[in-house]
Amino acid sequence: MAGGGWSCQYEVSGLCSKINNLPCDPGMKGCELFGRYVFFDASKNTRSAQKKAAQQAAEPVSRSPLEC
Ligand code: SF4
Repeated sequence: MAGGGWSCQYEVSGLCSKINNLPCDPGMKGCELFGRYVFFDASKNTRSAQKKAAQQAAEPVSRSPLEC
């Protein structure tokens, strides 16, 4: 990914050395960023959505202090 203030250690001349030298597409499956951030392209957010759903399922249901 060219330009900007951040560069990926796997990007070489616009290609991703981590994922079979495919064109760098930040957030794609297998990318260092996959599942860590929310992207505008919703197809890149499947892992984030899975993590969020798992966290919500693991949280105990809060009860009102007035309930016995
Ligand atoms: S696809 Fe992800 S891991 Fe690969 S070079 Fe781009 S930012 Fe880095």
